[in-house]
Amino acid sequence: MNQNNTLVINCGSSSIKFAVINVNTENTLISGLAERLGSENAVVKYSKDGQKGERSPDGEDHQAAISCITQLLTEEQLLDTLVGVGHRIVHGGEQFSESMILTAENMAQLETLNHLAPLHNPVNLLGVRAIESLLPALPQVAVFDTAFHQSIPAQAYLYGLPYEYYEAHGARRYGFHGTSFRYVSAKSAEILNKSEDDCCFLAAHLGNGCSATAILNGKSVDSSMGLTPLEGLVMGTRTGDIDPGMAEFLCQRLNMTLKEIMNVFNKKSGLLGLSGVSNDMREIQAAAENGNERANLAIEVFAFRIARYLGALAVSLPRIDALIFTGGIGENDRLTRSLVLEHLAILGFEMDGDLNAKNGDPTGRISTPSSRLAIVVPTDEELMIAKDTASLVR
Ligand code: ADP
Repeated sequence: MNQNNTLVINCGSSSIKFAVINVNTENTLISGLAERLGSENAVVKYSKDGQKGERSPDGEDHQAAISCITQLLTEEQLLDTLVGVGHRIVHGGEQFSESMILTAENMAQLETLNHLAPLHNPVNLLGVRAIESLLPALPQVAVFDTAFHQSIPAQAYLYGLPYEYYEAHGARRYGFHGTSFRYVSAKSAEILNKSEDDCCFLAAHLGNGCSATAILNGKSVDSSMGLTPLEGLVMGTRTGDIDPGMAEFLCQRLNMTLKEIMNVFNKKSGLLGLSGVSNDMREIQAAAENGNERANLAIEVFAFRIARYLGALAVSLPRIDALIFTGGIGENDRLTRSLVLEHLAILGFEMDGDLNAKNGDPTGRISTPSSRLAIVVPTDEELMIAKDTASLVR
């Protein structure tokens, strides 16, 4: 029986998230995480039917971890049920504006984009190669973080830089979290009982990485992330928008190298840098509740930047049918949502405190009946990757 089961793989530099999803029932049959890759403590952890398990791969690298995962799927009698493997690929550049079946030819094109996301794309492609060597008969699909944003017009994606940098090197804004935005846009249209072709949304994906997008008739028209996922909102450890002059300032004032500066912008800033406590919103709020002033300040900066960006993104829409909150913070953190809606009173938003406290009514609504609509919509990037994979290989 064709169960339409899809293996979803998300390869990071030292970890691999995986799941087998039945696209017909939308059930996750097994999911897990290979962690600490590259160290001798590499481990594959998984959960199936509520039971947790753990294995040690036969080696430290991605290939060994994926081999361990496919062995696990064989033992759980899932391997033979797979119709394809879907990979999260971070950067599709300007060439790839939708998900696609991977071939030798487009893999070669993808390799030429590695410079656009050097920390992500090469390792994403490692995952594809590993599956290819272990399961050569299974079709593989690439689902790009950037693809959904390829509809952004030039006025929003160009930087005020010499145009040649764009033409010769692809130096432009791309936007990320596209799979999540595509998912919540479709879900929100369902919630509004409207066709997605007739919907205007502002959406904030707030997780460890954070970005906001304006979505017009199911297409992204502007987004807060840029050439890299560093631009835009304040994030767990990333700065978000910053004056480019800051790099020169830190170089001269603190004698820092470019590498050190980029490390601070990417890994030591954001909520972590501001609060001095953690990059995890729950820990920051616990500290703020205990009177930690910097933790409190970090939350205020975080929420204000979100509201400021949503205000700016609104100029790309003719109207706003709903503001969507998603991601770990967007789905669970009532304080961030309430601060954002308070700042956005100018756009007609008014929060319902009781609904916000329970992460929304059954439709996700957290705004009052007379307010412009604000909703919480849990994202599911893995399901989106599984669905794209199943429909492309069918
Ligand atoms: P990732 O981007 O890694 O997928 P998530 O979407 O899981 O991250 O979001 C992680 C963030 O969500 C963390 O800052 C975490 O503190 C926050 N978060 C998760 N649950 C809650 C909660 N109940 N209240 C507040 N913040 C939460």
